[in-house]
Amino acid sequence: MIFFSDFDGTLTMEGRELTREFFDIMELIKTKSHELVIVSGRSLSWGHFFLTHFPLHACIMEGGGVVLYLDDRGEIVQEPLVSQAELDRLEDFTNNLKKKFPQVPLSADSFGRLSDRAIEFKLMGEEAVVDVMKYMDEKNIKYSKSNVHINFWCGSISKYLGVKHFLAKHRPQAKQENCWFFGDAPNDESMFELFHNSVGVSNIKHCMHRLNHKPRIILEGDENAGPKGVLNYVKGLYQKP
Ligand SMILES: [Mg+2]
Repeated sequence: MIFFSDFDGTLTMEGRELTREFFDIMELIKTKSHELVIVSGRSLSWGHFFLTHFPLHACIMEGGGVVLYLDDRGEIVQEPLVSQAELDRLEDFTNNLKKKFPQVPLSADSFGRLSDRAIEFKLMGEEAVVDVMKYMDEKNIKYSKSNVHINFWCGSISKYLGVKHFLAKHRPQAKQENCWFFGDAPNDESMFELFHNSVGVSNIKHCMHRLNHKPRIILEGDENAGPKGVLNYVKGLYQKP
């Protein structure tokens, strides 16, 4: 089995704390010789941290913009899922954006990003946010607004496209019925829409009204919030005959 999972709010609690359940999930999946693949909007450099500090072989970062995996020698390989031309266009656009709107606060981790950048829009006035988004529309730059960031990128990027690519190229033997995805928020929506075995942890209830596509399975109750929900669900799957 392969378990794909979002990180923030799914493998961590919503207050961003890392709890023992996260380590129990990794241990349980490893004991069964199965695989956990983190699929997160966090930057490439977070992916390096995941692969060097946890017993994982691959992760999909920047909302599906880049796959990281360990090769046969245990070295990390970075595989961007958009072309170099799109990465260059993003770099040029970011430089122009900084010139045109010198006050735009890029997120502190933007320097560690490869296929997207992020803006701390809460540090900006509302009008400036509208101006920046208008400028992105004019320049054909894609963006999404989360609770904290406006992420922007060039080319086709989504968590689903990242997972689809990973399965086709790196795990071609995997059967769809043995692959699962866990998530908690609108940036997991492409997986809820297109991936059959999708599970929402119970804290997803806070943003259910913002989702056009809901997970097929929705966990309930505080005992199934974030990593507790993932752990319970994985345990349940292993108990099935
Ligand atoms: Mg999340």
